[in-house]
Amino acid sequence: MRIDIVTIFPEFFDVLDISLLGKARQSGLIDLGVHNLRDHTHDRHRTVDDTPYGGGAGMVMKPEPWGEAFDAILDPATDDVATDDVATDDPATDDAATDDVAVDLPVVIFPSPAGEVFNQAMAKELALEKHLVFGCGRYEGIDQRVIDDTATKARVRMVSLGDYVLNGGEVAVMAMIEAIGRLIPGVVGNPASLVEESHENGLLEYPSYTKPASWRGREVPPVLLSGNHGAIAAWRHDQQVERTRRVRPDLLPAANSEE
Ligand code: SAM
Repeated sequence: MRIDIVTIFPEFFDVLDISLLGKARQSGLIDLGVHNLRDHTHDRHRTVDDTPYGGGAGMVMKPEPWGEAFDAILDPATDDVATDDVATDDPATDDAATDDVAVDLPVVIFPSPAGEVFNQAMAKELALEKHLVFGCGRYEGIDQRVIDDTATKARVRMVSLGDYVLNGGEVAVMAMIEAIGRLIPGVVGNPASLVEESHENGLLEYPSYTKPASWRGREVPPVLLSGNHGAIAAWRHDQQVERTRRVRPDLLPAANSEE
């Protein structure tokens, strides 16, 4: 997967050199480009923000640097896709061709507290994409025309990490890349470890234990030492349901309908 990030703080993403995502980059599973928005400014102060039209507190990110940055990332690819896939003389294939183009277009994600809330289902969906582009807002956000213009050349999504406000999009993008990246086949060594996790079946994960069997007077639940795989699976499922009911009852209707 190709991932591009546009930000005024490229150094934020240095940590993508380490751990599983660092290895995924080294092995070529993830091809990452981090772009400094200020490289697309043309004034002495490398200005990326200005006062809001209509008044109000704070500053808004100017459209010109964003437009230039996205043109550099998106336009060569979208030009190729458009010429390769759209042109057809057969009206019967026109719809399919247009659909192919839409599917081939990169997905541009603008992190925003005003967006749809990120979750595991969205991470799974995005892990199937070939090209993700993230635009990290700062200040009061990005001039709306950037989002509207980008939507003519990519599939745009405004995505929120949750119902709170961060100072900038970088932390949200880091979280999304980690959640998406670990679902790309080959990134996590043992794919089985992805299956029994929280949110995979609409339930939270059961509690986990490792050696020693007794620690500070606390014992590992005896069923886990029994070797009885059926009993262990049943216990874990009960724990999942009980934990989800206690901590996240809002998840239960969806979980029940899947069962
Ligand atoms: N004025 C904006 C609003 O009220 O919706 C908030 C701007 S916030 C201070 C600056 C940037 O942080 C946003 O443009 C966005 O990129 C990022 N951000 C803040 N909270 C976020 C959240 N919950 N999820 C994703 N990104 C967020």
